[in-house]
Amino acid sequence: MRALVKYGNRPRQVEIREVPVPEIGAGDVLLATRAVGVCGWDLEMWQHTMANPVTVPVIQGHEFCGVIAAVGAAVRGWRVGDRVVSETSAVICGACPQCRTGNYQFCPDRKGFGYGVDGAFTDYVRVREGCLHRLPDNVSFDHGALTEPACVAYQSVAVLSRVLPGTPALILGPGPIGLFCLQMARAQGAGPLIVAGTGRRPERLEAARILGADAIIDISRDDPVSTVMAMTGGRGVPLVVDAAGNEKALAVALRTVARQGQITKVGWGPEPVGLSLDPLLSKAARLQGTFSHNWPIWEAVLAMVAQGTLRLEPMISHRCRLEDWESVFSDLESGRGIKAVMQFHPEEPARGVGTGEPRRDTNPHE
Ligand SMILES: [Zn+2]
Ligand SMILES: [Zn+2]
Repeated sequence: MRALVKYGNRPRQVEIREVPVPEIGAGDVLLATRAVGVCGWDLEMWQHTMANPVTVPVIQGHEFCGVIAAVGAAVRGWRVGDRVVSETSAVICGACPQCRTGNYQFCPDRKGFGYGVDGAFTDYVRVREGCLHRLPDNVSFDHGALTEPACVAYQSVAVLSRVLPGTPALILGPGPIGLFCLQMARAQGAGPLIVAGTGRRPERLEAARILGADAIIDISRDDPVSTVMAMTGGRGVPLVVDAAGNEKALAVALRTVARQGQITKVGWGPEPVGLSLDPLLSKAARLQGTFSHNWPIWEAVLAMVAQGTLRLEPMISHRCRLEDWESVFSDLESGRGIKAVMQFHPEEPARGVGTGEPRRDTNPHE
């Protein structure tokens, strides 16, 4: 099968390679990928600017869903043909305090798909049973591939932030994660919702408007600090979500967060910051980090998607095939578009999604 492989630790050492279909263990399934989201992390791996090291060679791609093509001998509760979406914690130890308390995303031995173990920009992925969730029948594969970034936003805004209905929130950076954080804050009743981003990426600001932003600040034209303070009567916002991650964004967050408010930092930024954190003290504000997600978050997000609370179609700017990867990565990197979904096995009918097709319990390897 063909796969998108990062094969070296220098920029652009990524190419399509022929690789074997993975062998599965007793507790694994073989997942035939149907849709895989392209993440900012994938672009960073391509350019080799990631915050964390990766093992090479590795097949990239961690935002994926598909159909079970084979099940291991010890797998219970899943059958060939099931439509599933996979979490990203491919390997965990199962024994550390984080694993024992269900917070396995913080397991020190965690390895994620697409950088620690082989990921999903290919036809088949080996997935341990514990990563699987059923994709609701009314959710397409393209939308299912967006579950993972939505889970990041759920963890950041619903779990780790204090959001009160009827209170304003500011989202810095309208990339896919920022746009999902906007939707989460909206789902929790926060408002007005203010989104700040650069007008050099107009599609993202437009998506923020479509997805329910009450006010949009084009930071290439307007000063975000004075604009937010004017909008909030000088009080600032009780919640700032920093989905940009750079020093400039943190500086804006420190100046716009309300007294006793919270800054939730979801955007990564490997560069050191050179500013004083004293505003956190004088305002008694909190700076909250956030990372990844776990089982209950996936179930909740899938329910939100099935119920239509989260809108996914406005997030998708590209639908593509594996061979288009380089032009799509280039587009996203240069600020064109929002989210790309790579499609696999499109020749197979989508079972259970309104096609009237019977489910075929067949294994393509038989
Ligand atoms: Zn991702
Ligand atoms: Zn562990």
